[in-house]
Amino acid sequence: LRSKLPRVGTTIFTTMSGLATEYKAVNLGQGFPDFPMNGKLVEAVTKAMQQDFNQYAPMPGWLPLREALAEKAASLYGASLHPDTEITITPGGTYAIYTALTTILSPGDEVIVLEPAYDSYVPNIEVNGAIPVLVPLNGHDFSVNWPAVHAAVSPRTKAIILNSPHNPTGAVLGESDITELRKLISRQDIFIISDEVYEHLIFDGKVHHSMLRYPDLLERSFVCFSFGKVYHCTGWKLGYCIAPAALTKEFRKVHQFNCFSCHTPSQVGITEFLKDREEYLQLGVFLQEKRDRFIELMRHTGFSLRTSSGSYFICAGYEKISDERDSDFAIRLTREAGVATIPVSAFYQDGADQKLLRFCFAKKNETLEQAVERLASL
Ligand code: PMP
Ligand code: GLN
Repeated sequence: LRSKLPRVGTTIFTTMSGLATEYKAVNLGQGFPDFPMNGKLVEAVTKAMQQDFNQYAPMPGWLPLREALAEKAASLYGASLHPDTEITITPGGTYAIYTALTTILSPGDEVIVLEPAYDSYVPNIEVNGAIPVLVPLNGHDFSVNWPAVHAAVSPRTKAIILNSPHNPTGAVLGESDITELRKLISRQDIFIISDEVYEHLIFDGKVHHSMLRYPDLLERSFVCFSFGKVYHCTGWKLGYCIAPAALTKEFRKVHQFNCFSCHTPSQVGITEFLKDREEYLQLGVFLQEKRDRFIELMRHTGFSLRTSSGSYFICAGYEKISDERDSDFAIRLTREAGVATIPVSAFYQDGADQKLLRFCFAKKNETLEQAVERLASL
């Protein structure tokens, strides 16, 4: 067999969670909460099963759920969406991104990817025979280096992938990024794949600059979301993609012959749950408290934290503790200190040492305390 992804090994999340289990480490690596999800949502899904919503959902997703999502997009972002033609329920955010890329890419097309980048993007591009064009984020604050993005555009550029709030850095896009993005798409017909799985996890009163706010950008966008990330049930692997009708039509052609449709009772349950706006509106405050607690605890360690304005994550340097490569240090930290993290080099294609670790703070307070106690002894 000729590998379609010859350079790809096992994802870092599998590797580090495996090591965490092996060494009984506190797992601040892979991004998943260790606190329970909301019992009301569990009840709503259980009720849906009991009421026998157990057969195939419609291919684009349970219509009342798509209607509820259109209402939410209207109230949060002022978007005017047609649930029947512009919203598709998918088995997770990663699948939505993969499907969007597969929908638009032909061999030889180029896609601009900002590094560090969530690790599925580049393989998703390459498996389609397309070429990732890597542009580093600015080192000091992980903002977008727009002059470098503009310079990376070629006649073959088909799309740019954006992710705000950003994994792994916690950076968020601002108003000036939207202005630059407009300049970019006015030069050439470039699609936007906007990974917004952390849409509600945004801190310090910042605004989420969703593509759903900007009709001229939305016209070119596939906007990808994850219920797993938003409702603390990453194992559910359920999300959705919003795109204009013409793009959604093509997206669904790919989707219908891949998974066809998603878990029905979860869709019915989430529809009910979405009626309570407070559930998602308070998520940012809840996670910000976690971030702040983690920052406070980490003062007692030798790590130097960077800024995080959103997501589940914050990065930290460790120059006062070790001069090892980040990947080596992360492994040793798991084995010897009993704390698993993700080395930020894993989010770069060349794997170059970044001397940074990513910590997930979406954890119970006692988990954070236990981890930091171990880190403080280094
Ligand atoms: N994008 C980013 C940046 C993520 O961190 C995640 C989390 N896994 C996803 C997409 C996908 O989420 P899902 O588990 O719904 O596929
Ligand atoms: N998004 C999660 C993270 O960044 C992990 C997803 C996965 O394990 N594939 O940690």
